Amino acid sequence: MIDYHIHTILSDGIDTHESCLQIAAEYNVSEIGFSDHICLNYPDWAVKKDDFLVMKEKVTKIKNTNALPFKVKYGVEMDYLPKMINEIKLIIQQQKFDYVIGSVHFINGWNFDTEPLNYSDKNIDTLFLNYYTLIQEAALSGLFDIIGHADLIKKFNYKPTFKLDKLYNQTAKIFKKADVTIEINTSGFYKPCKEFYPSKEFLTLCFKENVPVTFGSDAHQATDIVRNYDKAIQLLKTIGYKQIAVFEKRKRSFIPI
Ligand SMILES: [Zn+2]
Ligand SMILES: [Zn+2]
Repeated sequence: MIDYHIHTILSDGIDTHESCLQIAAEYNVSEIGFSDHICLNYPDWAVKKDDFLVMKEKVTKIKNTNALPFKVKYGVEMDYLPKMINEIKLIIQQQKFDYVIGSVHFINGWNFDTEPLNYSDKNIDTLFLNYYTLIQEAALSGLFDIIGHADLIKKFNYKPTFKLDKLYNQTAKIFKKADVTIEINTSGFYKPCKEFYPSKEFLTLCFKENVPVTFGSDAHQATDIVRNYDKAIQLLKTIGYKQIAVFEKRKRSFIPI
């Protein structure tokens, strides 16, 4: 079992790195990665600028501990903000991550995944189109190894009037062209949309395009680490995936599932 999407108290998680390590050991994982939020808009759910170095030192120290029975990777969940590409690039270079998850949580400056009621005055069709444009741009930016929760716009179960198959297909082709990995993120199962990110339909199209996949629980507390891993792996196998991606110093390799 691996889990590449874990938040700690440095961003919006409620547990420390140490608690996460303890739970991961109890769950018998083979590999975890810490991926706190860096968002250069600096919302309250992201790592504070003053803590960037703290985060790096913290995870580096853990990685250098030989006593752990599993591998630890230094990751990040980095917001894709189209106007801040150079700044994002600089931080990625400075931090020397093992992998970078690129996520879209903002559409035209609006943090769309925090408050369901704020959708009331929005055009859902336009939101979906804008979201997928941003996710595609994020993939093509070359900044990221993994695209986080690739259909997050479905979170509160708002649905566009059009069918999504064409948009999924187009996006899967772009993921392949950009050579990014996607994650199967199991947190959506507990949100109003009640399914993993991405949906089975979208994942199937990604598999057809040969887009690699990795696993992330999006844990905001230690006990959520590898949450629903078995179900996610079963779904991936049903679709046809035989391996999942792992990263070290931003080099991708694969392990069988
Ligand atoms: Zn996220
Ligand atoms: Zn996350």
